[in-house]
Amino acid sequence: MSNAMNGKSLKMAEGHEKYDLIIGLEIHVEPKTNSKMFCSCSADFWEKEPNTQTCPVCLGLPGALPLVNKKAVELMIKTGLALHSEIRRKTKFDRKHYFYPDLPKGYQLSQYDEPICEGGYISVSGVDGSEKQIAITRIHMEEDVAKALHAKDATGEYTLIDYNKSGVPLFELVTEPVINSSDEAWEFAKKYQQILRYLGVSDADIEKGQMRCEPNISIQKKGTWKYENGEIIPTTDAPLLERVEVKNIGSIRFMKNAIDYEFNRLVELAEAGEEIRQQTRGWNPAKGKTEFQRYKETAQDYRYFPDPDIPPLEISEEMIDSIKKEVPELPDEKIWRYEKDFGISAYDAGILVEDKAKAEYVEQIFAAANNTTEIITDAVKFLNGIGASWSNNAGKSIVESSLQPKALIEVITLLHSGDITRNAASQLVEKLLNEGGNVSELVEKLGLKVLNDTGALEKFVDEAIAENPNAVADYKSGKMNAIGFLMGQVMRKSGGSAKPGDVQTLLKDKLSQL
Ligand code: ZN
Ligand code: MN
Repeated sequence: MSNAMNGKSLKMAEGHEKYDLIIGLEIHVEPKTNSKMFCSCSADFWEKEPNTQTCPVCLGLPGALPLVNKKAVELMIKTGLALHSEIRRKTKFDRKHYFYPDLPKGYQLSQYDEPICEGGYISVSGVDGSEKQIAITRIHMEEDVAKALHAKDATGEYTLIDYNKSGVPLFELVTEPVINSSDEAWEFAKKYQQILRYLGVSDADIEKGQMRCEPNISIQKKGTWKYENGEIIPTTDAPLLERVEVKNIGSIRFMKNAIDYEFNRLVELAEAGEEIRQQTRGWNPAKGKTEFQRYKETAQDYRYFPDPDIPPLEISEEMIDSIKKEVPELPDEKIWRYEKDFGISAYDAGILVEDKAKAEYVEQIFAAANNTTEIITDAVKFLNGIGASWSNNAGKSIVESSLQPKALIEVITLLHSGDITRNAASQLVEKLLNEGGNVSELVEKLGLKVLNDTGALEKFVDEAIAENPNAVADYKSGKMNAIGFLMGQVMRKSGGSAKPGDVQTLLKDKLSQL
């Protein structure tokens, strides 16, 4: 995935070059399970009548007993395996206490010191284009809170609470503070989303709030800090600058904007000699800026302790092994294989494997080409050229086009055997994308077959010479470009089926004899 896709960057604050930007990410994702994390209520709360999918467990009624959703645990293990994490053999659930109306129990069930997944990484492209591995600290399981709806009418302002979302499973991924630009953060989140979709673990649909990003951001004067054992530590006597967190950002794009905005804001504060206090902020997309929410709680404030109602979970070797078999080939592995096997550039391969459906379509094309490199090379040109612009115009994936994988390979085979010109091949692919159809019938119907009949070609050349005495005279008097005009005449007569090279050779030959 290229950084060039991120569009224009913000104007940087005065003095920014004196500072390093240090970012850690927390990303919450909703996995695809039928039921909630600790009860059998439906997890599909989207656009459902409020408070119709609740039970004593997710309403937090006293005495209700939670039961762990096995499917959610399996999906998390699958995610961890794909991200090179260690899977804990023994894991437990902890209560994270805080009070909020959307949290009826007064605590959230989460995982504190024994998360299911520890470690791992996602590779992004570093500043110099080389691969940079962004270390993952952990991925843990927790439950979502209810949805608070703030409303206002003649009686005044009030808040309604919909508990359909209460207890829906969430994965919380936390990275090490090793991200150093908004581009890296953007790419990390994009790739995480892409991997979750490949795995079928989550749709990570931004619109439905299935993926929420929370960057923690600090700046430090260059040369005053280092990253060691998971921590940012000072290398001079001066204290480090505090970090800020931007909470609950509902889009990867907005997360990038929020980081850019904070980088500037923090630099301006530091340069003005003002104090930076640890705090939580929110992103206001309408204003394009972050806004202060509160000064930060520390971990101790939550008074975590193990939930006495949920026994620790044992995760067996067999369970991990069987899930491992379900992890498909992932985008990075595909890109690497396409480079190695067919010499496709990482950039081109990246476009081919954007999403799983497209990658499967591309695999069908490669299979239809019998994995022949020359044909595949051309197939990629058509896919990322005409195919990509068709997608842009139609606002659809190429998978939804009428172009069948086999048809594309038929076109390229005709091109390689010299039966059609490259121009004709492009016309065909365009036609196939829009309408589909049988390749040989289309070639016939559109008259695209190359004219291999020398007699017919000779007739067209003779006609063109006879009908255009001025151009012939021009050519004879040394105006060499007059041949272009004559070639055009012959091509027109042949209905575009003549090979330009053949036409030129024959024309020159005939003209020299005049
Ligand atoms: Zn329930
Ligand atoms: Mn969380």
